[in-house]
Amino acid sequence: MFINCLNNIIRHSSYQFSSQYLLNKSKQKLILPFYHTVSNNELIHIKHLYRVKNTKEFIKDLDFLLSLFEPINIDTLYDISNGRYTIKKPVFLLSFDDGLKEVYENIAPILLSKGIPAAFFINSDFIDNKNLFFRYKASLIINEITNSSKKKSLASEEYSKHLSPINPSNLSAEILKIKYNNQYILDKIADSISLSFHEYLQTEQPYLNSNQINELLLKGFDIGAHSKDHPEYQYINLLDQIEQTKSSVAFLKDNFKIKKKLFSFPFTDHNVSKTFFEMIKNDIDLSFGCAGQKLDCIINHYQRIPFEQLDRSAKQIFNDEILRFMIKGLIGKQRILRS
Ligand SMILES: [Zn+2]
Repeated sequence: MFINCLNNIIRHSSYQFSSQYLLNKSKQKLILPFYHTVSNNELIHIKHLYRVKNTKEFIKDLDFLLSLFEPINIDTLYDISNGRYTIKKPVFLLSFDDGLKEVYENIAPILLSKGIPAAFFINSDFIDNKNLFFRYKASLIINEITNSSKKKSLASEEYSKHLSPINPSNLSAEILKIKYNNQYILDKIADSISLSFHEYLQTEQPYLNSNQINELLLKGFDIGAHSKDHPEYQYINLLDQIEQTKSSVAFLKDNFKIKKKLFSFPFTDHNVSKTFFEMIKNDIDLSFGCAGQKLDCIINHYQRIPFEQLDRSAKQIFNDEILRFMIKGLIGKQRILRS
């Protein structure tokens, strides 16, 4: 209740401040904005999950960031984390999760033209369009049933067989609630309406392929792991967390010329324990969460700010995050603690 109230106050007041003023007041010298993709086309596998920015909006975001910060790459962040580099002017490190093909087609050309480095985090099971993230499956199913009452009723029947009886009018909302551990149900529903994920992967090729990844590395971008197949870590056990992390990083090391061992958490690092970080410390140089502008008790682990928030601009998102960060400082809540 208090947090919701605070968020509303921040949302309605942060725009009144200049970003430069907030940056100076907060004394923050490093921010890490992150996105998934940028596209001028409708992406059906994402359409029902979150709003994607187009190239015009993305370029406006970048120009905003460049007006306040200098861009840095992973090597500089690594030096910062080891105390070998002291930040003078405020800096930002950009990154992108999920390894989508727009990274190669749309994002990298824009970043190269502006001289901005970036890190791209990819799921080892999805490279070369071998398989599809279960949330994308949910979006594709919703798209398929939206304008077909026959498919909606078939899909509802299938859903009811595995979970609980459902009114077809609630089906889309319930499909979005299906979790990683129940993802087989999405496959069953797709079968029931003759939707082929394999065909979608073949025709649309939503993910980066190995050649594109090699080219991105040659152009100076960094590639990191994002788990094997994108589970939410707080819902899988410690051994699975370690296996997902180590084997996705090992896959990149074995198949691509990566310089640093990088990892960004799929979904969130919420409730991930100190023991986990202790057990992977020799396998990872830098890791990343997405809890917004926050500090973390784990050295070499950085929190990033999601820059895809409906139709909000980088400036609105940044002002909110920095104001929230300052307010949290007053109540001693700027740092994420782990048990
Ligand atoms: Zn992700």
